[in-house]
Amino acid sequence: MTAWAEVADGVFQRRYQPYDVSVCVVRGTGGLLVCDTRSSHRQADEIRSGLRELGALPVRWVVNTHAHFDHTFGNARFGPDSGLGAPIYGHERVPAHLDAYERQVLAELTADAEDPEEWREVVITPPTVLVGAAMTLDLGGRAVELRHLGRGHTDNDLLVRVPDAGVWLAGDLIEESGPPVYGPDSFPLDWPATIARLRMALGERDALVPGHGAVVGAAFVAAQHERLATVAALITELHAAGVPANRALAEGGGRWPFPADGMANAVRNVYDQLAGSPPGPAAQR
Ligand SMILES: [Zn+2]
Repeated sequence: MTAWAEVADGVFQRRYQPYDVSVCVVRGTGGLLVCDTRSSHRQADEIRSGLRELGALPVRWVVNTHAHFDHTFGNARFGPDSGLGAPIYGHERVPAHLDAYERQVLAELTADAEDPEEWREVVITPPTVLVGAAMTLDLGGRAVELRHLGRGHTDNDLLVRVPDAGVWLAGDLIEESGPPVYGPDSFPLDWPATIARLRMALGERDALVPGHGAVVGAAFVAAQHERLATVAALITELHAAGVPANRALAEGGGRWPFPADGMANAVRNVYDQLAGSPPGPAAQR
């Protein structure tokens, strides 16, 4: 892991392995807000011990940027039964997503693990406070906005905006250390419009902390927006040309703006969406 980096006044990012996942902290006079909880109880306990480096304020708020395991499986170590008892905020579709996808992920992690105990002890814990389009939290001396701007990486991406610091915690809507991840639960056709809304709200000098990677600014977001739009347009074009889904990756050739081996889910989900069926776990197709 890295040391805590103070991205802006009282806003911190720490990058943890595995997955180079960002854990962020926003400090108010009333306590700490922790954004994302990593992949297991043990990993969450590592966050908790690291928080001591930021002073004695208690954790009063926890936010999940989306339901994926690397951002939520530590929830239990902050929530009702943890001794901290912090409310956990997440988008209203997180609980259904945990059931539809992440329980299976946990089973796979347990089956594949060298140390299965780390995964057996995970209690998948949904947010205790569900957020629709927006909610504002008062951290004491500073307001923090939770914003859902539309579907993209998942259908439950929530951004955390700290207006007085000009900082956004973006979850995996924007990624820096690798290409954006198109999972089986992604919405490639919606993603560009969601980033367009983000860009409308983003100040020119705002800093944005990706779910994975280093802090970026408006220019990086603009460049990633363009690539996300290229993916949506290219798959739509291939579909319209009658290219079968299993030929689309090859047919796209050098026009994919991200490595083609990460585009299979994007192709499948766009083809399904254009055929009128929503994305879902393979087992439910
Ligand atoms: Zn992630």
